[in-house]
Amino acid sequence: MPLTGEAKRQYMAEYHRRRRAGLPTRAAEDDVPWCNFCGCTAAEVHALVKAPDEAPYRAHICDQCVERAADAVAQRRGPWWR
Ligand SMILES: [Zn+2]
Repeated sequence: MPLTGEAKRQYMAEYHRRRRAGLPTRAAEDDVPWCNFCGCTAAEVHALVKAPDEAPYRAHICDQCVERAADAVAQRRGPWWR
């Protein structure tokens, strides 16, 4: 199903972010879900968790990022805790 409106805008923004950052755009080109934290696709991680259906946009997070986020929250301080 082709993307439209806000979903398409976000898709293109991510695509161009990856291009600028020199990251592979494969995930965006194939429309394969990727971790919105680290950019890994489902094939590169153990598990990819989808955002709830009621979320305003499509998002995923991988098991590794969940672990790192949980650590950061548990320590109330971490690489992503600002
Ligand atoms: Zn990740």
